Amino acid sequence: MILATCHCGRVSLEVQSEPAEVTDCNCSICRRYGVLWAYYSPRQVRVLTHEAAQDTYQWGEEKIAFHRCAHCGCVSHWASLDPARDRMGVNARLMPLELLSKVRVRHLDGADTEEYVD
Ligand SMILES: [Zn+2]
Repeated sequence: MILATCHCGRVSLEVQSEPAEVTDCNCSICRRYGVLWAYYSPRQVRVLTHEAAQDTYQWGEEKIAFHRCAHCGCVSHWASLDPARDRMGVNARLMPLELLSKVRVRHLDGADTEEYVD
């Protein structure tokens, strides 16, 4: 089990396994957040925090919501608004430092081609 925790500790997520790789995306939202996404099935992730401790952000036609701690502001994950979608993103920057130091970082050109550029 890997625990991803915000700075103040109010928002945490438990994932079943270490990510094999994480994604650094340059799209309009990810580059501003400065996050590294580890993708999982929602069935592999337990959000250990009450909804009231989180704020969410959505815009335009996007079908996902970005969650952050309502207290310290750390972005914790994104979740699909479509319950049939078997994918979510956990911000690996909230995972233990020793894990992050060894994981492969992939670069996604989400701003334009939606393809990995490494
Ligand atoms: Zn927090």
